[in-house]
Formats: sequence, structure tokens, C-alpha cells
Amino acid sequence: MKILKHLFDNNREWAEQIKAEDPTFFEKLSLQQAPEYLWIGCSDSRVPANQLTGLLPGDVFVHRNVANLVVHTDFNCLSVVQYAVEALKVKHIIVCGHYGCGGVLAAMQNKELGLIDNWLRNIKDIYYKHQEALEAIEDQQVREDYMCELNVVEQVANLCHTTIVQNAWKRGQPLSVHGWVYGIKDGKLHDLDVCVTGVEQIPDVYRIFRQRILGK
Ligand SMILES: [Zn+2]
Repeated sequence: MKILKHLFDNNREWAEQIKAEDPTFFEKLSLQQAPEYLWIGCSDSRVPANQLTGLLPGDVFVHRNVANLVVHTDFNCLSVVQYAVEALKVKHIIVCGHYGCGGVLAAMQNKELGLIDNWLRNIKDIYYKHQEALEAIEDQQVREDYMCELNVVEQVANLCHTTIVQNAWKRGQPLSVHGWVYGIKDGKLHDLDVCVTGVEQIPDVYRIFRQRILGK
């Protein structure tokens, strides 16, 4: 008796359904992947990249971790970004957080949780940076939602500060970095309107090259 048999049953049905719609779907995908998007999202089981964007296998390259962080010393995430940008040449990187993110909420508390505290420290830094604005919000729910949004905005900035993204721009490769938040309560995506498409849009100190057009 196969363990988790129901998942294999589901898989067989799913594969047959896709094949019925497009008999060569898997054959074509086996030859290459050419996704336009890199998705950096939370590991939360309620935020699956493909399903909530209606994308099929092959459409989106995905990296997920607790609270959708882009940490400069995380070679796992950076390796995904490098492969996606340099080999797959994705046109869009989407950082997608979500309201009610357990990682963000945990970072807002003063509790010891173990190993993960070292990961959540990155979120505490964001809280500290925006402490005044956050603590001016009286409603706890609104404050938590705002912190989830701020976390995404900071990760978009972190991506733009990487050599990977900046070298893509230097080469003239079209690449946009987006910040979105997903509402678990209604299934809707929200664009935070923080899209970055070029090095001139980031603070000078983070730029690894000067743009000739600016005469610098
Ligand atoms: Zn989360």
C-alpha cells in the first residue's frame, strides 16, 4: 500500500486532465522552461504562486521562504535569483507577501521561538526602521497589515541592491521588480505600486555602477 496514495491519485487525474486539453503539454515542457516571472513568496500553504495567478507549470519560477525575505547572505535565494535572471532571463521578479503572515507577526512579538529567531531578526530590523510610523497606528490589525506591506517593500529594495539585478540593468536586459501583497481572507492580490525598472530609481549608495547618461 502506497503511503499518501490519495496524492498520487490526484496527480494522475491532474496529469490526465492537462493532457486531455493539450496532448503535447508535458512533452513541450520537458524540452525547456521559459518562464517570464520569478515569484518570491512566503512558504505559507495558503499562498501558492501558480494557483492564485492562474499560471500553468512552466510559467513561473518560484522561491519561497518564511515571510518572503531576500537576505543578502542567503545563497539559496540569491542562487534562485541569479539563475532566473541570467539563465532564464525572466522579465519580472515579484515579491509577494500576504496579510496575516505568521513570520511577520512573530517578528513583532517578544517571544523566543528558537532557530527561526535568527531569520525573523531581518524583519525586526524593518520594524525598528519604521517604528515611529508603525506605532502611530492604533489599530493592531491595521498596524500588522502595514508591517506586512513594509516587509515586501524592503525585500523589493533588497533585490534591487543585488549585483544580479543591477548587472541585468547594466546589460540592458528588461527586468522589473514588483511588490505585491495577497489577502488570505479574500484571495485577492494587491499591487503596492513600488515597481522598480532601473538603477536610477534606487538610492545612490546602493548602486554598483554609475549611469553614463547621468554624466556621473
Ligand atoms: Zn507568511
